Amino acid sequence: MASHEVTRATYRLWRMLADTVDETVDCDVTYATISRSTGLGRHTVELALMAMSTLDELPALRAHQEQLHHLDMSRLRAIESALAMADRAYFPELDARLTRYLTATRPNQPLPSPKAIRQRIKALLDELDASLATDEEDPELPSTTYSMKIHDNGTADLFARFDVPTAAAIDARVRALAKERKIGHAAAHALLLTGEDAGVKVHLNLYRAHDVAEAPVHLPRAGWLNPERAAEWLAKVSTVRDLDAAAETSTGAYQTPALLEALIEGRDGVCRYPGCSVAAQFCDNDHMLNHADGGTTSAGNLVNLCRHHHNLKTAGHIRYVLDAVTGHVIWLLPNGIWVEDLPEGPLAADSRRWVQTFVQRRDARNQRARQAAQARKRARDELLEQTRDTADEGGDAAGGGEDEGDVACPWSADLLTEPDTDPQAEGHAQEADGPDEPVGVGE
Ligand SMILES: [Zn+2]
Repeated sequence: MASHEVTRATYRLWRMLADTVDETVDCDVTYATISRSTGLGRHTVELALMAMSTLDELPALRAHQEQLHHLDMSRLRAIESALAMADRAYFPELDARLTRYLTATRPNQPLPSPKAIRQRIKALLDELDASLATDEEDPELPSTTYSMKIHDNGTADLFARFDVPTAAAIDARVRALAKERKIGHAAAHALLLTGEDAGVKVHLNLYRAHDVAEAPVHLPRAGWLNPERAAEWLAKVSTVRDLDAAAETSTGAYQTPALLEALIEGRDGVCRYPGCSVAAQFCDNDHMLNHADGGTTSAGNLVNLCRHHHNLKTAGHIRYVLDAVTGHVIWLLPNGIWVEDLPEGPLAADSRRWVQTFVQRRDARNQRARQAAQARKRARDELLEQTRDTADEGGDAAGGGEDEGDVACPWSADLLTEPDTDPQAEGHAQEADGPDEPVGVGE
């Protein structure tokens, strides 16, 4: 059975279940009933029904889905979770943009991964709604986001919550130290936090288009940063490098030069095996045509693969071809089907197109926010006049948006290097937050 038939059947099942939901019945009863009849966990049922409900609020996308059945449940859930904080007033615009984003323009075109969809929606929300800081749960980081749980067996868990860029920076330091000292990640945490080890020098790459004024900044694993976050990170930049030159780099040496490595990571974003979500900076640079067989070390012959998929490829179980112009990778799997994988990094063609129009749209958003703030101020002034309230409420009524997006940036290159994070390169992947399943299978 082809994978799209499974996707269609799954969607139809959830559509049927969602349509049977009786709004007058307590939702716990509904979830329990469906859970019992499907054998699925209550939480799974709840998430799936929420995903269907959100899809119902996006009529264009729903119509598209019911024609093509292209979105599986993991993608529908990604859409639901990313839109959870969105103001419903923006849904018509989001519906149109998402439908366009998720429309194939040619046969068998693979879909963006759930993670890519979440990051795109986050960026869309940043762009549409100036009142929303999508990557900040709470700037004060309340004490509930830090805790320790002691177990009976003599161990304890420490839990701490951060914004994603901060967490990515901490994680990079931990991984770098663990690798250098050949110790576990938890042990590396302990050494850093107890001050017994100062850690090793690491860096993070920030990506920014140099040919677009006030272009957004991308931090790997965190995605596109909002203007405030971007300003914070740009302030830490120590080195600016132009990646255009790296695109032309081709060497006979086996080792990948740092600039070329940054280019490949910026193109691929994650391990290029379809559905694998290991971050590119923890992947190996795989030579499509083996170095021993004359393969060059160049953008047209290198692909980011996590250690697991690198080993499978080296063993000959899976094979691929890289399109050097588009960055698309075509995989041939052992069962004879081919699967296409699109690059997801900030330098991928889709991201570049998106960046080019981002600034115009952000300006339009700020204009709308300004007009809304002015309208609120006018309304309040009129109210004040009417009630002849003499109390001075102080300040103006401006809500948001007026002051953002104007970070003066001295940088003019593609790649900005921040000095204190990220294990440079050939790192080994341990983390994967999604299943290693092929997607977009051709027929
Ligand atoms: Zn992988």
